[in-house]
Amino acid sequence: METENALARILDGKATAKAVRADVAISVAKLEAQGVRPGLAVVLVGDDPASQVYVRNKDRAATEAGIAVDTVRLAADASQTTVMETLQRLNADPAVHGILLQLPLPEGFDEAPLLLAIDPAKDVDGLHPENVAALVQGRRGLVPCTPAGCIELLDRAGVELKGAHVVIVGRSMLVGKPLAQLVLARHATVTICHSRTRDLAKHVGEADVVVAAVGVARLIQGEWVRPGAVVLDVGINRGEDGKLVGDVDYDSAREKAAAITPVPGGVGPMTIAMLLSNTVLAAARQAGMESALGEGESSPRVP
Ligand code: NAP
Repeated sequence: METENALARILDGKATAKAVRADVAISVAKLEAQGVRPGLAVVLVGDDPASQVYVRNKDRAATEAGIAVDTVRLAADASQTTVMETLQRLNADPAVHGILLQLPLPEGFDEAPLLLAIDPAKDVDGLHPENVAALVQGRRGLVPCTPAGCIELLDRAGVELKGAHVVIVGRSMLVGKPLAQLVLARHATVTICHSRTRDLAKHVGEADVVVAAVGVARLIQGEWVRPGAVVLDVGINRGEDGKLVGDVDYDSAREKAAAITPVPGGVGPMTIAMLLSNTVLAAARQAGMESALGEGESSPRVP
């Protein structure tokens, strides 16, 4: 006897990120053969424990891929001017091709002028207004790592976005908004939901692809999900038992979806992989060598 629903295929972000990182390492070797060693500078202000872990992971992954990493640690009581001067020094350093200012900054810092101070060509987080505009206008730029990672994961899993209805829950500058632009550029029809959306369940139920980027544990219920939909869970929440959980109720959604990302091991590892990919892309462009990188060896670009 056939069961009613097969469980969803798991979209393994860990394995896909490993494949992306291997491609990055090949690109690094190609650039090095031309005398260019991609360099990434990570600026960490203060001692937020989560940020420390993120920065350590980025440092390790970049180093493994052959990227030269310079982690600049500044005290939580460093001045706005010190951070600004650090970014300006890194802008001027030809060995640094990518600059990442680890967010959030400690209280008292004004983020916007600091993000604006980063050279857009080195802005591997894709948060500079010039890169935001490039994404919206379909120009060449650098794309934020998490949404880029979502697209890369879908691409490598063979999920077709053209004509698909993508429902994104969350409208942040970091995830929801840039992802909407990326899937639009892939000819998807997009619905963006947020905290004021009426009847979230109805919207989610109409999606071919659902992306949850909210920050509320298990908000998206399996029963809302259309049978056969693809579910990407960007959320990282700490459950009551201390374990990481996503924004999607994984067990119930897995019974309805065709494919789903787990948390952890889904979108998270893709974010770091795309940071490396962006760094290599930035290095290649700054050296006038983008054509030396093969197809698929740099982050997703808008057409
Ligand atoms: P954010 O800036 O706090 O944005 C959250 C969004 O969710 C907002 O647009 C908010 O709506 C919406 N929202 C909040 N409650 C809602 C509800 N009950 N129903 C519908 N929408 C709701 O968060 P973010 O930076 O985008 O991050 C989202 C999640 O992804 C977090 O868990 C974060 O830790 C995780 N994350 C993961 C990665 C990764 O590498 N995997 C990277 C970045 C973020 P309003 O705009 O109306 O307030």
